[in-house]
Amino acid sequence: MAPAPTPASSRHCLVTGGAGFVGSHLVGLLLARGDRVTVVDDLSTGRRANLPASHERLRFIEADLREALHALGKGEVFDEIYHLAAAVGVKLVIADPIRAIETNIEQAAALLRFAIDRPTARGPAPTLITSSSEVYGKGLRSPFREDDDVVYGPTTVSRWSYACAKAIDEHLALAYHSQYSLPAVVVRLFNTVGPRQAGEYGMVLPRFVAAAIEGRPIEVYGDGSQSRCFCDVRDVAPALPRLLGDAACHGRVFNIGAETPITIRRLAETVIETLGSRSPIVHVDYAQAYGSGFEDLAARRPDLTRVREAIGFTPAITLEQTIRDLASSLGATAPLAGSPR
Ligand code: UDP
Repeated sequence: MAPAPTPASSRHCLVTGGAGFVGSHLVGLLLARGDRVTVVDDLSTGRRANLPASHERLRFIEADLREALHALGKGEVFDEIYHLAAAVGVKLVIADPIRAIETNIEQAAALLRFAIDRPTARGPAPTLITSSSEVYGKGLRSPFREDDDVVYGPTTVSRWSYACAKAIDEHLALAYHSQYSLPAVVVRLFNTVGPRQAGEYGMVLPRFVAAAIEGRPIEVYGDGSQSRCFCDVRDVAPALPRLLGDAACHGRVFNIGAETPITIRRLAETVIETLGSRSPIVHVDYAQAYGSGFEDLAARRPDLTRVREAIGFTPAITLEQTIRDLASSLGATAPLAGSPR
């Protein structure tokens, strides 16, 4: 028997960057709960194919966010706003820092101003700003807690421009909360991974999985002892509407991620084992990967106490499951064992 159609809610949500990796998973959840959704995405890194080709409650606007907000009719009011549009990925930020800095700051500023200028009957719409674990910079305390001091490298190292831009977005969102009572929530995402993630902008897991599928060498930068905590997007995305829907979370910053660290060398081995790949692991100098003067982080791990207390957030999807599903989304046809090197 066909599943009963989801009853439409009266909510209308705006999702910027909704054709992107995290954004498209969020849009799927909002449509599933019956909302109307408007996506604005310039398809710079997002893909139209990440969203349903047609859906009666989905409107897709391909445009620069600043221009799209300007063009939206005066009567256009949203009940919830999710800002996921951003220039992301270490490689992208290093390749074009001006675009990354301008995009990340100007779009968030335009979006927050829009949220204030277009209030609902109950006041400004709850607005979620996605930030990044990069905001912690190279803080020495581990795990990172939301109120920790942050430590950045010098402005001569372009990597830190992303952290600074995202920190400005956070300052702006919190300032709109205190000056205009905007119900704003800031989330810092830590190494989100999963189906639909693309590797071309630097993210490690899709790069490793794509190489493993094709039997190409898996390139571990540095000695591979650096560690990260990877959290599946299908655990991350449902947390966003839950945080935004809870008034007790407004005006606050939340880490979202997983707490189990894995070294990048071990990650490469896990990808190979999980997919039965014969890819060799090779080590590549940071200078060759990112250009000279690049600073990597030895470890990055979130403290999840706050988000756990707020909404009971506990990631459930294993890394192996994520690797398998990411491989399927990249078009792998199992089994890989026996594939040529
Ligand atoms: N990395 C790697 N090989 C790659 C891409 C990334 O070894 O092909 C490393 C990178 O140097 C970093 C880690 O994997 O130590 C995570 O990189 P990513 O860009 O995914 O996230 P972030 O550095 O922002 O945590």
